[in-house]
Amino acid sequence: MSMYHELMNIYYRMYEHFGPRHWWPADTPFEVVVGAILTQGVAWRNVEQAIRNLKQAGLLDLAAIARASHDELAGLIRPARYYNMKAKKLQAFCRYVMDNYGGSLERFFARDLWPLREELLGIYGIGQETADSILLYAAEKPIFVVDAYTKRIFSRLGMVDADIQYHQLQRFFMDHIPPDVELYNEYHAQIDAVGNRYCAAKRPSCGECPLRPLCAFSKGLTNA
Ligand code: SF4
Repeated sequence: MSMYHELMNIYYRMYEHFGPRHWWPADTPFEVVVGAILTQGVAWRNVEQAIRNLKQAGLLDLAAIARASHDELAGLIRPARYYNMKAKKLQAFCRYVMDNYGGSLERFFARDLWPLREELLGIYGIGQETADSILLYAAEKPIFVVDAYTKRIFSRLGMVDADIQYHQLQRFFMDHIPPDVELYNEYHAQIDAVGNRYCAAKRPSCGECPLRPLCAFSKGLTNA
C-alpha cells in the first residue's frame, strides 16, 4: 500500500468513527484567529468563555482590539489563562494588520501561502502551530496543521519517530497527501478527536480507538 493510501485509510477510519467535525468552531475568520491565539496551552472550553466575553463587550473585532486598553482586554480573556501575555499577542496581531493592511484581514490573507506564513511567524506570539491554524482555518490555505496529538498518534502507529520535529511532521503529510483545504481541515480535526478522546499520553483508551487495528503501540510493538 502506498503512503498516500495508508494515510487515507487512517483518515477514513477516523471519519467513519467520529463523523464530520465542522472545524473550526467560529463564526468568522477573525474569530478563528482569536481562538487560535487564545487556545495556546489551554483546553478549548477555556477559550469559549473568553470569546463570549469579547463578543458581549463588542470587542470581537480587529480594530476594536487594536485600540482597546491592555487591562480591559486582559480582563475579558481571563478564562483563557495566561491572559496578560495573550492580550499582548492579540493586540500585536490586530495592530500589525491595522498598520500594514488597513485593518483588512481579507487583504492580508490574499497573500500567497508561504510568504503569508513567514509574515505570521514574524508577529509577536505567533508560533508554527498557531500560524498554520490561522492559515488553514481562517485564510483557507492548503497547509497541514500538526500538533502534539499528531506526533503522539503517528509515532504510536509506527509511522514517524517519536522525536520528529514540527516541520518534518508537517512535510510528511504534505509530501503524501495532495494539497486540499477541505481534506486538511477535516484530517487535523479527526486527529484532534483521537488525541482528545482516546490517545492520552498515559494509559490511552486503545479499546475504543478506531486506529487500534493499525497501531503498533496498542500491540506492544513500540514504546512511543
Ligand atoms: S490504538 Fe491506542 S495508542 Fe494507538 S492511536 Fe489509538 S489510542 Fe493511541
